[in-house]
Amino acid sequence: LRVTLLAGGVGGAKMAEGLAAVEDIKLSIIGNIADDEAFHGLWVSPDIDTLTYSLAGMIDRVQGWGVADEGKRALDTLSMLGQETWMTLGDRDFGLHIYRTMRRNQGDRPFIIARDVARAFGIKAAIVLPTDDIVQTQVQTDAGWLSFQQYFVREQCAPDVRGVRFEGIETARPTLEALKAILTADVIVLAPSNPLVSIAPILEIPGIGEAVKAATAHKIAVSPFIAGKVVKGPADRMMASMGMRADALGVAQRYQSFVDQLVIDNEDATLAADIAALGVDPVCYPILMKDQTDKARLASEIMAEARKTL
Ligand code: GDP
Ligand code: CA
Repeated sequence: LRVTLLAGGVGGAKMAEGLAAVEDIKLSIIGNIADDEAFHGLWVSPDIDTLTYSLAGMIDRVQGWGVADEGKRALDTLSMLGQETWMTLGDRDFGLHIYRTMRRNQGDRPFIIARDVARAFGIKAAIVLPTDDIVQTQVQTDAGWLSFQQYFVREQCAPDVRGVRFEGIETARPTLEALKAILTADVIVLAPSNPLVSIAPILEIPGIGEAVKAATAHKIAVSPFIAGKVVKGPADRMMASMGMRADALGVAQRYQSFVDQLVIDNEDATLAADIAALGVDPVCYPILMKDQTDKARLASEIMAEARKTL
């Protein structure tokens, strides 16, 4: 079976690791490039790197991002040189940013660069960029518009979010590889990623959301909310401050026009009837992924649900 996962960073990578453990599927992962930003002259792609490091087994398991056993000496040097160093970039990590930037400067397609990195790191799944163009999330706060990393890392998500925009998205073109992964998929999975700043900037690239809607695949999403709370990150406060329900039902409302099923936690079983009323089939299952066993189990459950419909 062909399975295509739409994924952000940490929540996306956990789901990717689960699906990567399922036998007999061909996995493509369409990642989010809208968190990308230049630091110290290098092009940094945090969500794609989180996917890459996770699937390569290099990830720092404690923080969920970055390389394990990492140093910060390069950043210390930049700090001595008077540079702002709030964006944590590790020494090993810098090597990847240097490589990516070098290839981009040579004119190579970002899709090919990400594919080559994944292959070099021994990753079997295909990591597919949704576009080769630059799309950058910006967050509106009371102090004005911030780049996503300024909001997320420098301000640590403290400001209330009044709005979100994806700079450059109107003119971005989808990659043919992403469209193919969507249109030829038997199953499309939406990771339990932030709906507003991880999934939306993938779906809103012209052609991508339309392809997901048109695709004949079984479409199944996993809620990033468990018992009305996020596992990590600002999705709850963002959804609430933008007038959406910050729970699994809010996720179902956002995805109802195209998903067939939403996997929610057993703790959210009371929301199942309301989710079903939206025309989305709720599946109750333990969706907190603490370790590889949890990830693989959730992925098997998703595949079992999908297989019932194929
Ligand atoms: P980011 O790009 O690193 O912010 O990561 P994502 O957008 O991919 O994922 C962030 C979301 O993942 C948050 O809203 C979390 O609630 C969710 N998340 C993290 N770990 C888990 C988990 O184990 N289970 C579920 N269901 N959601 C999770
Ligand atoms: Ca992200």
